[in-house]
Amino acid sequence: MSCIFCKIVAGEIPAKSVHQDDQLVVIEDINPAAPLHLLLIPRKHIANTLDIVPEDDLLIGHLHRVAAKIATDRGFAESGFRLVTNTNGDAGQSVFHIHFHLLAGRSLAWPPG
Ligand code: AMP
Ligand code: ZN
Repeated sequence: MSCIFCKIVAGEIPAKSVHQDDQLVVIEDINPAAPLHLLLIPRKHIANTLDIVPEDDLLIGHLHRVAAKIATDRGFAESGFRLVTNTNGDAGQSVFHIHFHLLAGRSLAWPPG
């Protein structure tokens, strides 16, 4: 298995984990783009949003609720936060195991670059 995020999920590559459950691993991004920059990574290998199937619906919903809880626990519910996932080249996807960026702690530009 050559997927770096599968290796992180399996514990074969170290990462700063802030939450784990039966469906997700949440880690600190190695190259943070905001004061809070976490990656919510499903344990299941899905390449990106194009490969989400109906049986993943509960997983994707769970991921959003975990993201909102972490943001709330860290004090960003009122100030705001962003949850984004990149799909393929124009979006800048570099790791082809689906992950959602949780960004907070500064004013985030819109539209994104
Ligand atoms: P994307 O460009 O949307 O595919 O996002 C990939 C993200 O993974 C980038 O923000 C990287 O900084 C991050 N990343 C890559 N390798 C690691 C790693 N070993 N540990 C933590 N974050 C990583
Ligand atoms: Zn993977």
